Amino acid sequence: DGNKAYRLALQTREQHIRREKATSNICTAQVLLAVMAGMYAVYHGPEGLRAIARRTHRYASVIAAGLATGGVEIVHGAYFDTVTARVPGRAAEVVHAARENGVNLRLVDADHVSFACDETTTRAQAGGVWNAFGVEGDVEALDAATEETLPGALLRSDDFLTHPVFHQYRSETAMLRYLRRLADRDYALDRGMIPLGSCTMKLNATTEMEPVTWPEFGALHPFAPAEQAQGYLTLIRELEERLAEVTGYDKVSLQPNAGSQGEFAGLLAVRGYHRANGDDRRTVCLIPSSAHGTNAASAVMAGMKVVVVKTAGDGEIDVEDLRAKIEQHRDELAVLMITYPSTHGVFEEHVADICAQVHDAGGQVYVDGANLNALVGLAKPGRFGGDVSHLNLHKTFCIPHGGGGPGVGPVGVRSHLAPYLPNHPLQPAAGPQTGVGPISAAPWGSAGILPISWSYVRLMGGEGLKRATQVAVLSANYIAKRLEPHFPVLYTGPGGLVAHECIIDLRPLTKATGVSVDDVAKRLIDYGFHAPTMSFPVAGTLMIEPTESEDLAELDRFCEAMIAIRAEIEKVGAGDWPAEDNPLRGAPHTAGALAGAWDHAYTREEAVFPAGVSAADKYWPPVRRIDQAYGDRNLVCSCPPLDAYED
Ligand SMILES: *Cc1c(COP(=O)(O)O)cnc(C)c1O
Repeated sequence: DGNKAYRLALQTREQHIRREKATSNICTAQVLLAVMAGMYAVYHGPEGLRAIARRTHRYASVIAAGLATGGVEIVHGAYFDTVTARVPGRAAEVVHAARENGVNLRLVDADHVSFACDETTTRAQAGGVWNAFGVEGDVEALDAATEETLPGALLRSDDFLTHPVFHQYRSETAMLRYLRRLADRDYALDRGMIPLGSCTMKLNATTEMEPVTWPEFGALHPFAPAEQAQGYLTLIRELEERLAEVTGYDKVSLQPNAGSQGEFAGLLAVRGYHRANGDDRRTVCLIPSSAHGTNAASAVMAGMKVVVVKTAGDGEIDVEDLRAKIEQHRDELAVLMITYPSTHGVFEEHVADICAQVHDAGGQVYVDGANLNALVGLAKPGRFGGDVSHLNLHKTFCIPHGGGGPGVGPVGVRSHLAPYLPNHPLQPAAGPQTGVGPISAAPWGSAGILPISWSYVRLMGGEGLKRATQVAVLSANYIAKRLEPHFPVLYTGPGGLVAHECIIDLRPLTKATGVSVDDVAKRLIDYGFHAPTMSFPVAGTLMIEPTESEDLAELDRFCEAMIAIRAEIEKVGAGDWPAEDNPLRGAPHTAGALAGAWDHAYTREEAVFPAGVSAADKYWPPVRRIDQAYGDRNLVCSCPPLDAYED
């Protein structure tokens, strides 16, 4: 349409969900935090950031100058925001005195104390630091007398943040409207259903979210002394205990920041256990071919060798192949990683037997708990054969994760693996002394968002959690049954039922009509829905997970949209619309696409107001579709050519 568009190429968009293509185990990451940091730069711009940095450095210099004037030795002559002072034999005493003054200093060792400033540092805090060291200082006088200490050679001289976005939104009103404009382009859970299978996109209740903004949770430093964090520690302990009860494990660590990190931590625990038993050779990790890509990537990171187990025709693990692989690798078998219910959306009947076979061969069983929304209150992985699992608090336990995190991926283990959970060198209370070391920078990972899950569990209670699971499973089966006459459901378990998600198979329709899974996913946007998960775990299919959060009206709205799309596919198949020019191929349709000439085989109304879409409540997508993966594989750089840089 002649508009400027940006492409996020596959090479830069980290790829993890497909096992054979995984380039790392990172799935849920820290995108939301990166966006917040980006918006900080948008609001302050280069001048603002420079001013903040100068003030931060100035405070560090002035406090250091005050200490030096008072006879305290400063260890280094050049620094930015962090200063270390030498106080032979007095470090603990100084740190203690500062604490009495309301300032946390860092105890480096018996002879050294270090402090760091930022844009929130105040005069009163400077006074508190000096007082703790037993010196006196005057901010004003020292500021006037102290030379610049930043080494000139290290100072940046070029421009930065030159893009207009870092200069346009400097009033609070302008910033607010900018954020609102971006949010309006988004399709989020506050507009409608996001039925992404395996992602469990459920309600993030306002009541659960609110405490995150309270300074009692949000303003605490991860290394604040434990006695200042008693409330947090209580919340952490209670959540660990409740998660242990829900999963049937003996011990839970909240340190991992994502499910994938929980996998990594869990596999390290398995390795630690085998090593302690003298089983250094046990490094083989069996993974079913349907597994989420993070499983295999985490296994490789933990130093294991991945051996893939086949999937049978009904979507379950091929029990014969599993038996053969166990036999073949009997002496090196470390662990079997399974997802339960499986990523095919079914409760595998043989799970207890499968776990027993692995145990008989001396292996451990890792149950990927990302699908716990189908189990909470009904079954416990720690009881049906699992030795270790991760959970995704940002799936089952209500932490929002649209846009990529942050998450919490607690790892739960049976008691024999507990000595090998993560710990932290700077916080003994964060894990067992015998642990494998930290897997996150902070002792309790993304502790700031734990109040969300704590509140959810507390508000729901045992009965409520169980009921949520039952409703989630019921809703998935309702969708499967309503759509079955129109789209075949790929896998079902005993009794023709699915678990908490269902896979619908578009491949026969694609073969008959040329309408692809992409066309259907894009067309759903015109109907006011976020697409389900596409082509995972089976190419050419859609995986739908409604969760318990969607009421019957929203489930019906979704089913009716899918059924209407089925009728559109019919028309393409019958030749009423050409294969290359129909509402499916043209989807999604933007408001901009309606203006001007219209030379399509279907009407504007058919494009943007298909059956059931109200003009008043219409979600208008901001961009149309551009050449899909073709563009990812055929990158054309729009930046200046290399020879433009020659001089
Ligand atoms: C989401 C998911 C993961 C990865 O969890 P993250 O928290 O995104 O790292 C692993 N396995 C399955 C089955 C999942 O659905």
